[in-house]
Amino acid sequence: MKRILYVDNNATTRVAPEVVEAMLPYFTELYGNPSSMHTFGGQLYKKINQAREQVADVIGASPQEIIFTSGGTESDNAAIRGTLEANPDKRHIITSRVEHPAVLNVCQYLAKNGYEVTELSVDSQGLLELDELREAIRDDTVLITIMYANNETGVIFPVEEIGQIAKDKGITFHCDAVQAVGKIPLDMSKNTIDMISLSGHKLHATKGVGALYIRKGVRFKPFILGGHHENNRRAGTENVPSIIGLGVACELAKKYLPEEQTEVRRLRDKLENQILDTMPNARLNGHKILRLPNTTNISFEYVEGEAILLLLNELGICASSGSACTSGSLEPSHVLRAMGVPFTAAHGSIRFSISRYNTEEEIDYIIEHIPGVIRKLKDISPYSAEIEELELKASARNS
Ligand code: PLP
Repeated sequence: MKRILYVDNNATTRVAPEVVEAMLPYFTELYGNPSSMHTFGGQLYKKINQAREQVADVIGASPQEIIFTSGGTESDNAAIRGTLEANPDKRHIITSRVEHPAVLNVCQYLAKNGYEVTELSVDSQGLLELDELREAIRDDTVLITIMYANNETGVIFPVEEIGQIAKDKGITFHCDAVQAVGKIPLDMSKNTIDMISLSGHKLHATKGVGALYIRKGVRFKPFILGGHHENNRRAGTENVPSIIGLGVACELAKKYLPEEQTEVRRLRDKLENQILDTMPNARLNGHKILRLPNTTNISFEYVEGEAILLLLNELGICASSGSACTSGSLEPSHVLRAMGVPFTAAHGSIRFSISRYNTEEEIDYIIEHIPGVIRKLKDISPYSAEIEELELKASARNS
């Protein structure tokens, strides 16, 4: 089988072996329904609550503040819709232009259905301007929903300051922390963020499971109605194996958090610095420092990102591009567009997102092969003259 070198961990992660092992009994001998009266099912309720403690622990929350969901998308939908339902008199929402579609598309839907939405801009490094947020707040602002860290660039937002601004104005603040949990420390006991979303498959648990943190006292109405599960806040028979797995993944995330800051960051920096230092048409998208330790988003100017991905794929390297293929035309990502990345660079952007499972040898393999990939594409690019000009400028600077 072809060797797979996976550096697309912001898309999804490998399920940790410890997580798989912890989940297995709940597919076979322990298949009961946690809501059942008999001990066979009822004993699972304790296990779910143990997972709730593990999830709460990784974000500094208390277990009663956690509800399990089907993933990041549901958590985002539930937070937004649940806040609006609980505060029906107010109609204004603030978000940013660089949110994940799980937030942005919900807000855009609401804007067509009776709400007013302000989308905050970002600067060329992907950073938010807090004064713009302060100016956007109105008497009828009900919700601020802004992500913790961007999935494409890894840029981290000043969510603690946003939480304080929201609290001072009595506005609920929801934060999509899907990319942050497990990569940087989060402590809800030390900030005023009202709600955060997290997703299992971004932190080495399975797909289709997640959680929503709702600070005690925050007004919220359930988004999914039905039975009395999750303390009447999210109906539906619990996805027991995945919830157990999410709990273990959160415990592991806490254990390996220091490694994210050191080893994962070191490997990311090695890859990034080597590419930026040696390839004249490469440029970094996103703030150099205020960033997740595992993510680098690099544009190769005048080269097509999809073509780079295909050649990397032939080498067994799985990364992702900042372009979304929409109806046959290649549209640069909304995040890079919001940052004002020039068209010629936005089209050639590649995101490498690494994890604790990546090795030095893998990073060296990418460093070894990427110049050849770009050279090959340069030779067939209609912009090869522009690339040569960048190369000449770089060699003049270095001599
Ligand atoms: N929010 C962010 C920032 C994400 O990166 C993702 C997934 O890519 C989601 C939400 C959606 O999470 P899920 O895939 O669990 O629905």
